[in-house]
Amino acid sequence: MNEFYDTHAHLDYPEFETDFPEIIERARAAGISRIISIGTDLESSRRAIAMSERFENVFAVAGWHPTNVNEAPKDFRDDLRALANYPKVVALGETGLDYHRLPLTPPLPPNRPLTPALAPKGEREDSPPATGGEVEVYKEKQARLFEQHLEVAAELGLNCVIHQRDAMEDTLKMMERFKGRVRGVFHCFSDGPAAMRRILDLGSIVSYTGIVTFKNAQNIRDSVAATPLGSFMLETDCPYLAPVPYRGKRCEPAYVKEIAGVIAEVKGCTLETLSAETCATAAKFFPKLA
Ligand SMILES: [Zn+2]
Repeated sequence: MNEFYDTHAHLDYPEFETDFPEIIERARAAGISRIISIGTDLESSRRAIAMSERFENVFAVAGWHPTNVNEAPKDFRDDLRALANYPKVVALGETGLDYHRLPLTPPLPPNRPLTPALAPKGEREDSPPATGGEVEVYKEKQARLFEQHLEVAAELGLNCVIHQRDAMEDTLKMMERFKGRVRGVFHCFSDGPAAMRRILDLGSIVSYTGIVTFKNAQNIRDSVAATPLGSFMLETDCPYLAPVPYRGKRCEPAYVKEIAGVIAEVKGCTLETLSAETCATAAKFFPKLA
């Protein structure tokens, strides 16, 4: 059987609480010999580490997700250093920038008169919308948190798992500053070949999820076709993004097998080659993935 790794899973999420040992067993039976559980805040990182201590084939990545930035401490660096000390913490993250959901305009009150002029005096003003200033403050907070991960990663000789959504330019700019010191894996890569090439030029790599199996994902398959073997890894991002034929259901690490099948087809290579190449890429990117 061909061996593959799930380089990005959220094993600590509540979706897996009820049947966790079975999930690990199904992964093993499907040839998924290593699973990396990714932290999204301090507690989630600690849970990922606890799982890595309990299961031989589970490893952890510790970090604070950009969409949780409002709950993050101002300075997360000491926590990161402490978490990185655990022998099975193979990288820092997931970290990065996410501009997909910026601070929203507060919702309008119900029963709001259609014409503000009809509202009783004193209630004429709508709630003030989020100003450009608030959006900038939020983006700046994400940037500082991202920078802290990269700083500690550079200091400790680790790489970073990068989450990027609607923020490619700023993410690349930040990675550029750490070029030669920290490499990133742009996880759940969903852009076209041009963005992929810019990432590889920075010394970083990408990883592909079950989205590559979706009918409407031809642009991602084009990226896969253009990404050289040795520059990408496989992941589920479970419990999200289950590949076809499980699309819409809970995803789990065993489904890397379905992802690998489609990617081998797109690359025109055998599963043996894809297995050897993606596992070697992961071993190189995550030096502690023994
Ligand atoms: Zn994730």
